[in-house]
Parts: sequence; structure tokens; C-alpha cells
Amino acid sequence: MISQEPTIKVGIIEHCRDVRGVFNGPFTMNGMFQLGGNFSARAENGRIVLTDGRGNEVIPAKEVHCVQTNGATFTLHDVTIGIHFHWERKESQTFQGNLTLVARDNGTITAINEISVEEYLASVISSEMSAEAPIELLKAHAITSRSWLVAMLEREQRHVDVDPERTIRSDDEMIRWYDREDHDIFDVCADDHCQRYQGITKIISKSAAEAIEATRGIFLVHGYEICDARFYKACGGLSEEFENAWEERHVPYLECVSDSSIQHPKITTEREAEDWIFSHPDAYCNTTDAAILRQILPSFDQETTNFFRWAVEYERAELEEIIRDKSGFDFGTIQNLVPVQRGPSGRIIKLKIEGTKKTMTVGKELEIRRWLSKSHLYSSAFIVVTEREDDGTPKRFMLYGAGWGHGVGLCQIGAAVMAAKGFQAEQIVKHYFHHAQIQKLY
Ligand SMILES: [Zn+2]
Ligand SMILES: [Zn+2]
Repeated sequence: MISQEPTIKVGIIEHCRDVRGVFNGPFTMNGMFQLGGNFSARAENGRIVLTDGRGNEVIPAKEVHCVQTNGATFTLHDVTIGIHFHWERKESQTFQGNLTLVARDNGTITAINEISVEEYLASVISSEMSAEAPIELLKAHAITSRSWLVAMLEREQRHVDVDPERTIRSDDEMIRWYDREDHDIFDVCADDHCQRYQGITKIISKSAAEAIEATRGIFLVHGYEICDARFYKACGGLSEEFENAWEERHVPYLECVSDSSIQHPKITTEREAEDWIFSHPDAYCNTTDAAILRQILPSFDQETTNFFRWAVEYERAELEEIIRDKSGFDFGTIQNLVPVQRGPSGRIIKLKIEGTKKTMTVGKELEIRRWLSKSHLYSSAFIVVTEREDDGTPKRFMLYGAGWGHGVGLCQIGAAVMAAKGFQAEQIVKHYFHHAQIQKLY
């Protein structure tokens, strides 16, 4: 395990022909040149050509490392945010730490911000959560995010080539899961794919800074390992086991947890799944409290509050088109959607899609959520109710579901409610991560 604060490489800009920005103070480039003020960079013959504000070109190099002195910051123009979302736009962003520009083989530039883990976390927590969020929630989230992040850095160091996704495929089965380790020359990207990071473009809230300071170097650990502490929006009353969302590996601190002071039994049969999803059990994330939701859902006003129990309805033809689009397979007329295997939270791990032209089983949870929705279903914990024509052909499919996200690890909405009820950060993380210990590593 680590004994000092690591640094993290965050990919800010990718696939750009040129990059423009400002050094807001003194920077040293590749240990030789002093830089300050405006700059622009372009890729030329596999090298970065950097031009300073007076039009002087600095000797080209494949990689340009700009190291700050005296805590100087830098600004990058035209940073794309919300990639592939309807609100995608470009803006100028300001960062602490160092800047590396890399010339890629395809003639584009990648801009990377190298920053200390604690500074990175302060920015991420500040932009993910409201400044009014209870401090114990921010502290619990800081411990969780820090553990998840550094566990990932440690995995990257252990084996360099980690597949971004794994697919187990045969004629009638497609089982796939996704991990985030698909960036080659940096650790995380700055977009929602990893965690949204905008440097210090927006002022870091006092409460986020306080939560980071109070938990500096504190991790969830299990044995001699930092916990891969995953999180998501809402479990729906029960959390899920790691191996049901990702690879077949039992992770002792990522087990099924009853998100309540009451012990809800795990789901083991279809009948129990139905009873569970159609009920309204006591759970920390079973809330419609707008004040609490606003603290954890950045754009709460556009979001629905129907995440604890939800429903989606499709005309048969509409669902056939979505599945054809998303899976690339033509199932013909869809006859049945059959849950083949569920995890203890009720999340479907394998779903059989029976059509007149094709029958196939799909998994795991994220792939099911992708195939059955134009964007993503809230979760894979759902019951299918099929309305049929007189001849038995399906007319409409109704999906009744529970929870929001993969359900493994910390339930963000549940954690917010626990903090509002007066639980301490340590109690919150220990509630979600059984068998994990809390340890200060630096
Ligand atoms: Zn990413
Ligand atoms: Zn929950």
C-alpha cells in the first residue's frame, strides 16, 4: 500500500489539432525554458510545436512537460465538456498542477493535467455535490472516491494491459461488462465517463475543501489492499455483489447490504423479486426529499424522483427497434423477455430475449440496461409484465424496476439520507462496505 500522496494524470483534451491557453504565472518547460502568458501548440510530424505569446516557437518535442512554480495555474481554451450529451459545449478551464502535451500518432494532441490526488478530489467532490450537502456525506464520499481512485492507480501499476471491456460470446449468449481502465496515457479523463473534473474553473466550495482536509490520506482498506470502493446513485433497498456486475471474483467488502436499519432478506427467486419490486420497503434511499436530492443530483430539477421504484413502458415494435439498434441483432418479433439469473438485490445478471428470428441471452447489468433503452435503463432490477394480443403476440412490455445504477458499494442517495439523519462519515462507509477497515495512509 502507498505511504505518501500519489499524483494522478487527468486527460483534459484529446483528439485536437491545436491547443490554446494561458500560463497564469511561471512554468518551466522540459526543465529548460521559462514560460508565462498566452501559448498555443500544434502537432507537426509527430511533435508538439509550442508558440509563446510573442510568437516565438519553442524547440519541438514529442512530449512537452510544463511544470508550475510558486503554485501557478494554467488555463486551457476550448475544452469540450459533456461529450456526446445534448449540452456538449466548449469552455475555458483553469487548473492547478502541471500540464503535459503529447503528440499522438494520428497527428493530434492530448493535454494532460498532472495533479496531487487530494487537489483532484477537492475539485471532483466540489463539482459533484452541492456546497450545502451535510459535511458527513462529503467526508464519506471523499473516503470512498479516494479509495476507488487509488485502488485503480494501484491496479494500473500492477498489470499494464487491462481490457476496457470483457465479452464472453457464443451464438446464443453475449455476456459483457465494462471497466473504466481504457485510457492509455493518462489515468482518468475529465468527463462523466470517469468523473467530471473542471480543475479550479469553479470555486471549490468551502465544505468540499473541509471534507477533503478532514479525511486527508484516509482510505477504506481490506487486508493489505485499498478497497475498490464503487458507488452509484441508489440501490433500491438492497445493494449488489461485485461479481454480478463485473468479473467473477468475490470481493468481501462489496457484498449485498440491506440499506436500512431493518435487515431485508436477499432476493433468491423470481417470486421474491416480484414481491420486492412491487413493495415500498424501508430504505435510506427510499426518499423524495427534494432538499436531500438537490445535494447529490447536480441537475436535480431536470431529474425524476422516481428512481427508488420506476416504470418504463414500450410498444412491442418500439422495443424491437431499440434492441435492434443497440444490440446489432434482429430478433424478429419479440415474444418474451425472461430473467435467467438475478443477484441478491434483484438486479438481473442474465436476460433471455426470445424472438421469432433469434433468441439470445444478454448480460451483465450494464449491457441489459443499454439494450433495453434508448439511453440507459435506471437499473437491471426489474420485472417484465407483457400485455398480449388475443393470438398471444406481445402488444406492450412494461418494465417495473428498483434502484438507479449498478448497486455495488456506496448508495449515494442512501448515504445522503444517513448523513441528514445524523450518522457520522465512518458509520456511513462501514454500513455500505462491510469487512472494510478505515486507515490513514499518509
Ligand atoms: Zn474516462
Ligand atoms: Zn440505497
